[in-house]
Amino acid sequence: MERLRHHFTRPLTLLASRLSQLAYPPRCAGCNGLLPEQTPWCPQCWSELALTTAKPCCPTCAAPLGPYQTLNSLHQCNQCKKHSPKIKSICRLGTYNGVLSQIVRSLKYNKNTYSGNLLADWLADKVADQPWLDEIDGFCPIPMHWTRRWLRRIDHTKIIADRLSNHTHLPVIQALRRPKPTPQQVGLSHTARMKNIKNAFKINPRWPIEGATLCLVDDVMTTGATLFEAARTLKTAGAAKIYAAILAKADNWDVYT
Ligand SMILES: [Zn+2]
Ligand SMILES: [Zn+2]
Repeated sequence: MERLRHHFTRPLTLLASRLSQLAYPPRCAGCNGLLPEQTPWCPQCWSELALTTAKPCCPTCAAPLGPYQTLNSLHQCNQCKKHSPKIKSICRLGTYNGVLSQIVRSLKYNKNTYSGNLLADWLADKVADQPWLDEIDGFCPIPMHWTRRWLRRIDHTKIIADRLSNHTHLPVIQALRRPKPTPQQVGLSHTARMKNIKNAFKINPRWPIEGATLCLVDDVMTTGATLFEAARTLKTAGAAKIYAAILAKADNWDVYT
């Protein structure tokens, strides 16, 4: 009986999928152009993504590295040397502009989990190459306030963290809560962002993090204010060391100012 039902329903499912493709032909999440075949992004967007992921950046603060900038023996750029980095190392997939920014936005605002998962898989490959992977106890996604999560109907940082967890077999540790609905950080300076985000996070007591080494997970890092405040909250609660993995870093140097 089950086989008989499958015999009839499978052609119907295929027909529905073909009709849906005719009505809504697949479009590239990077440029919104029509896709020639079943692929997440068009060839031009693929090559732009490959370029941005290959761009050099500081392994400590994730800021882009200029052609004449050198790192010291602690893998720190000139900015990191002047300040004391609040996060041991930040692994980023690429720079937040062009195609990568479009795809990240399509995950966040259009619930494009297909493309988002592929980016997260790509990030997982980078995280797997980090010398600190063996140190971490799990991935801690940056939480949203529940109202924002409810409005967007997606928890995109949890989606990225789940993917990193699948690849590395390390757990997702939701140690942070965000009980305070902070205003959007867009357009604010680093100092204003730090003030805006101060005390926004609380610890979820369900997760013991005393002495733990955690990797924070976020989609975009602009000046680092959100990640630094999350790291401060976790360390105050007893976490030993904090690393971070992000999809994109804004193309700016002002991580500390
Ligand atoms: Zn495209
Ligand atoms: Zn740096």
